[in-house]
Amino acid sequence: MFPGCKDHAGQRCESHCINCDAPVCVKCILSGPHEDQKVEKLKETFERRKQEAISKTAEMKEKFSPKCKKENTDIELAMSKAKTHFGDLGGKCKSLRQSWHQELDDIFDKIDFLSKTFKDQNLNRLRAYKNEIQIVISDINQILETNNRVLRSRK
Ligand SMILES: [Zn+2]
Ligand SMILES: [Zn+2]
Repeated sequence: MFPGCKDHAGQRCESHCINCDAPVCVKCILSGPHEDQKVEKLKETFERRKQEAISKTAEMKEKFSPKCKKENTDIELAMSKAKTHFGDLGGKCKSLRQSWHQELDDIFDKIDFLSKTFKDQNLNRLRAYKNEIQIVISDINQILETNNRVLRSRK
């Protein structure tokens, strides 16, 4: 249960030198290097260390627990903010997409309408021109016919 002494063969270290922070045997305390130094029973050392560990743990819990909790809350807040932000972005993207589609549809509708209008206008103009030419042609024919008749009658 107790460790053997490095300096005194066959002796068990039942105590602990506080000055040197090392296990010591009875001979070490009575006449060895740890004579007149502050010693305590090894069991007391264990108990002291246990208590120290307990109080350190409690201290850490007290110190870091609120910090960790706050950190956790902050992270959750940041996450929910990010979610909201990107959700908004998604919505904005969707509505932009819709409005741009609408814009493009309108533009192509206009182009379509204009091209049909121009086509109709051009065809109408050409039709009118064709009619005029036909009138001219029939006038010319009439004149030719009249001239022919006149020429024939003079013979
Ligand atoms: Zn010893
Ligand atoms: Zn010592």
